Amino acid sequence: MKVIKKSKELQTLIEREKKKGKIIGLVPTMGYLHSGHISLIKRAKKDCGIVVVSIYVNPTQFGPGEDYQRYPRDLERDKKLAKEAGTDILFVPSDEEIYPDSFHTYIQVEELSGRLCGVSRPIHFRGVATIVAKLFNIVKPTKAYFGWKDAQQLIILKKMVKDLNMDVEVVGLPTVREKDGLAISSRNKYLSKQERKIAPILYQALVKAKKMVNSGENNSARVLQQAKDLIKKKKGVKIDYLKAINLIDLKDAKKIKKNTLIAIAAWIGKTRLIDNVII
Ligand code: AMP
Repeated sequence: MKVIKKSKELQTLIEREKKKGKIIGLVPTMGYLHSGHISLIKRAKKDCGIVVVSIYVNPTQFGPGEDYQRYPRDLERDKKLAKEAGTDILFVPSDEEIYPDSFHTYIQVEELSGRLCGVSRPIHFRGVATIVAKLFNIVKPTKAYFGWKDAQQLIILKKMVKDLNMDVEVVGLPTVREKDGLAISSRNKYLSKQERKIAPILYQALVKAKKMVNSGENNSARVLQQAKDLIKKKKGVKIDYLKAINLIDLKDAKKIKKNTLIAIAAWIGKTRLIDNVII
């Protein structure tokens, strides 16, 4: 596995591999790798001749007062895990490399970026779209891999690719969970022992909602109320949103049907977690 810090060097290397006929797969991450990331890398390895994994804690997607500074970082551990999972090239750019002082161009996917997480994190998806567009331009992958865990991110990135005619296939992969159902996330590290114990309630609420739908209830308000009631039984969880939405425009779905997304964001103590299920 090659570890590369400079965009130019990476571009030259990729060009060489493309000339040999290799298909390039990209897995963008913020590091502190876990089995969710690993599942993306392994799938990329199956599909592509060369797998590029990027590790970059992207400052422009964190709002003021968010956890940019304390976001977990451990490059040595990540190198080992990335290599074991089959990464060919690990791209670990510096802030100066990605955002030199002269940097002034951002990508804003209108409408979608203001919904769900965009309400409490108004600049988040502008930062996400910008860094991913930069990575697409540097790596020029045939396929890029993202998790459904961050469903809104995935939908926004697919829209960016379509709207801007980017020549890359965005592949979405299922959420990897702990045994007790908690969606795996680098941010789970912030949870205290007590908070970790209650965190699976988010997924339990989503499962409850899904079960109601499967047994014939399709009224969103009723389904969401039951899910909220379940969460209210646990102390220490504050719901940011719990919504049933359609996957195209992320607008509220009054009736739940196939392909409706039930998505939650909630605070457990000082940690904001997200999760979702698709009907
Ligand atoms: P992050 O490092 O949190 O920015 O995540 C990098 C990529 O991994 C994103 O496409 C995420 O959606 C994906 N990801 C994060 N957690 C999981 C998970 N538990 N299961 C599947 N994919 C995940």
